[in-house]
Amino acid sequence: MLATVMNDLDAPRGHGSAWRGRPAFQQPVYPDAAALEAVGADLRSRPPLVFAGEVDALRSQMAAAADGRAFVLMGGDCAESFADTSATSIRLKVQTILQMAAVLTYAASTPVVKIGRMAGQYAKPRSADTETREGVTLPSYRGDSVNDHAFTPEARTPDPARMLEAYLRAGTTLNLVRAFTMGGYADLREVHLWNRGFTANPAYKRFESFAEEIDRAMRFMEAAGVDFEALRQVDFYSAHEALLLEYEDAMIRQDSRTGRLYGTSAHMLWVGERTRGPHDAHVALLEGVRNPVGVKLGPTTTPEEVSSLMDHLNPEGEPGRLSLITRMGADRIREVLPVLVEAVRRDGRPVTWITDPMHGNTITSDNGYKTRRFDTIMDEVRGFFEVHRALGTVPGGIHVELTGDDVTECLGGGEHIDEQRLAERYETLVDPRLNHQQSLEMAFEVAEMLQV
Ligand code: PEP
Ligand code: MN
Repeated sequence: MLATVMNDLDAPRGHGSAWRGRPAFQQPVYPDAAALEAVGADLRSRPPLVFAGEVDALRSQMAAAADGRAFVLMGGDCAESFADTSATSIRLKVQTILQMAAVLTYAASTPVVKIGRMAGQYAKPRSADTETREGVTLPSYRGDSVNDHAFTPEARTPDPARMLEAYLRAGTTLNLVRAFTMGGYADLREVHLWNRGFTANPAYKRFESFAEEIDRAMRFMEAAGVDFEALRQVDFYSAHEALLLEYEDAMIRQDSRTGRLYGTSAHMLWVGERTRGPHDAHVALLEGVRNPVGVKLGPTTTPEEVSSLMDHLNPEGEPGRLSLITRMGADRIREVLPVLVEAVRRDGRPVTWITDPMHGNTITSDNGYKTRRFDTIMDEVRGFFEVHRALGTVPGGIHVELTGDDVTECLGGGEHIDEQRLAERYETLVDPRLNHQQSLEMAFEVAEMLQV
């Protein structure tokens, strides 16, 4: 996609004042205000990570997903880490998302909008400000852009220089993602062969006939003279939680074509369940930018909150601007979601409904791991489809925490990961992710839901 040139001048200072002074939750307390100021000034002088034209293209694809002409797939780590920005780890995540997207594209018969929770997912909200181990209390880990995971006073002290490192890591990650997705790695024929490898595993035999259908479709395309060379490039977008206000503010740039402001740390930005107060700082920050934005909605969300969020984030009802990412929990979604969907329908302004089946379904295993059950995750996805089908509204996409590696962080799936096996490869810094196989298994199951 062609990059639209944006000016690289300082973003006008005025826009920042909209969020400054509002209640700002989940922010680090930096010991050195001058150092924070200096990092902000440095970031403001640097080039954007994404470009206005790309952000606008994503907004129109999100609009298509809102009315069923596309389906959104968002996936990646709960928390990216600086230590894990190797080419292999990035490649495996991109590969996993491309494999899922191929299956979903076939099932939905629409384009799949591919968005990585990647290249910037470095800041985390936490349920407690401090963590205590063996009588020692330190600040909680808030993501690599804030502090270090190691449990020492030095590591846990928020350091603004980490924002600069986050910017650079995001830039190199995005560079590699662009190289993979523009350089032939996304070739549909390759991606389909990887999926055939997956369904050849006896554990996933039940998806074999589906993969054969896709085989036949590929042969048909070939026979009909489809230009597979043209299918070697795909659009791949980045997204993360816009949590760290100083970082996001410093990444706002003005588009020289239109004078409008864009958050240039990622194509799409979302606010989390803990920071989505309609009058609070995070929503105010996103009010000022043109990007497609998301809001996470937990089970206690009221219809009044949703309409207030729409008033703030999408007053004109622009298609593709606002996604509502519901994370209700499998046991609550069928009861709670219809009320919100009805309210949005009465309002009339469009939203893109996306399910996050991860964050309402976190449990602690008997042996002490923070985990999620594959079956419970799939039950929430099923509930999401059921509610939208019953109300005649559009299930627009899924948002998942996943990795391309063979970690053992979520229970169940075709490999039957049990509590004992969680110890084998539990690598996440915050929340448990689906591994490569569990992610593909999810894609095939969602494909079945899309087909009915
Ligand atoms: C997350 O997406 O990692 C997260 C913290 O989500 P939520 O805000 O929905 O809890
Ligand atoms: Mn998470």
